[in-house]
Amino acid sequence: MTDYDVVIVGGGPGGYAAALYGASAGLSIAMVERDVVGGTCLNRGCIPAKSLLQTAEVYRTASHAADFGIMPEGSGVFVPDWVKVSQRTTGVVNQLVGGLSTLLKRRKVAVVMGQGRLTANGSVDVDGQELRGKATILATGSVPRLIPGFEPDGERIVTSDHSTRSDVLPQRVAVVGGGVIGSEFASVFTDVGAKTTLLEMLPEAVLPIGPDRETADVLARALARRGTSVHGGARVGPPEKSDGGLVVGFETAQGVEKIEVDQVLVAIGRKPVTEDLGLTEAGVEVTPRGFVGVDPATMVTSRPGVYAIGDVVDTPGLAHVAYAEAIVAIQAILGERPIPVDYTRVPWVVYTHPEVAWAGLTEAEAKAAGYEVEIHKYRFSGNGRAMIIGDTDGMVKVVAQRGGPLLGVHLVGPWASELLAEVYLAVNWQALPEEVGAFIHPHPSLTEAIGETMLAFTGRSLHG
Ligand code: NAD
Repeated sequence: MTDYDVVIVGGGPGGYAAALYGASAGLSIAMVERDVVGGTCLNRGCIPAKSLLQTAEVYRTASHAADFGIMPEGSGVFVPDWVKVSQRTTGVVNQLVGGLSTLLKRRKVAVVMGQGRLTANGSVDVDGQELRGKATILATGSVPRLIPGFEPDGERIVTSDHSTRSDVLPQRVAVVGGGVIGSEFASVFTDVGAKTTLLEMLPEAVLPIGPDRETADVLARALARRGTSVHGGARVGPPEKSDGGLVVGFETAQGVEKIEVDQVLVAIGRKPVTEDLGLTEAGVEVTPRGFVGVDPATMVTSRPGVYAIGDVVDTPGLAHVAYAEAIVAIQAILGERPIPVDYTRVPWVVYTHPEVAWAGLTEAEAKAAGYEVEIHKYRFSGNGRAMIIGDTDGMVKVVAQRGGPLLGVHLVGPWASELLAEVYLAVNWQALPEEVGAFIHPHPSLTEAIGETMLAFTGRSLHG
């Protein structure tokens, strides 16, 4: 038996953030991991997916080089080499996993490899080795949800676990699910020349849940313009083997269709990893939706001393939310008074082309909550920097309480992922739009679009 202040089960963003933050506060920490440190995000999620999206960006830019006066010589044709793409992605992943391992070692976190399981006495059993913590944090994450008849084989039928690390680019692909993962992969596949069909169950085919409809529609139109075949309200049947690959049948309001593809990517959501964790024996309650239940003020579960964070709890499945929850849990363990995460105002980024990013309430959510709203928008087509970089599709949309603070800011367009930082702060500080508008935004920059939208709340504008 080895004693620690905190034993963490799971070494993904939730678990490793808790380990690093806890260790920096002087706690002795053991972190149990059954696979590779870094979890889904580093190894088969956020990082490799964004690396692929960057590849698509480079390809798009290279393909339009002539628009900028960079003229091709020779054949002038660029082709994606997916083996090289995969090698580069793996290189980025390995660098980050290596860096994380070094950081954990430097902070003296004991990384214990194996399957962790809670015991009735509150300790953690790792394949027969018992680790005892004054507190335990469950951070076991999530895995892709599957559909019967779509069992992944890693080649023809895949999940993001495979697509993030594959060295084969499918030429014809059906993406089932138009959520965050489905939209990001549809964007990659379309941009690198794969014939891509997006099949979403809900009526709105692209990002049906989450962002403001108007910004999601900009992305939907952009994907369709670039050649993604987009279908909302689609009932998809299990794929059948054909001579050339797989045949996928689906039914929409337009009728029944069958397409032949090389690959089906199933991206219909993720489910928490709670099996074989000893939760029942340890008295840790699971919610009806299958997540570990927690008090969001401290992230403690129904068993005192046992905390849960990240995708295993029913909060937005985002690495940065897991980081924030890790800090809350460690502060609670330290006996401090943590500031709970405000889940209505977390930053969301979808790294498609164009990118969609937001924080706070959508127009529909604000109205449903009973707010009298004032809304202003500014399109990137009026922004000098957007013209310079040759990427003017998109807008800033600001939702504020009439005469009051910001409720939500919604971006779609170039570098929306990075522009979000400013408006995320403003929304969380509950700033007045005119206060943000009074700050200077550098010229020429994409941020001016934010300044212009905020200025519009004063009834005056510069370029609006
Ligand atoms: P999601 O919940 O975002 O989207 C799943 C979509 O699949 C939904 O629109 C749903 O209506 C649809 N769907 C469900 N069953 C279907 C069916 N049988 N046929 C067709 N469509 C169906 O889930 P996801 O895209 O798989 O992402 C999983 C998690 O990963 C999310 O929590 C997300 O936040 C996270 N993630 C975040 C990012 C990011 O922040 N950029 C990127 C990737 C993943």
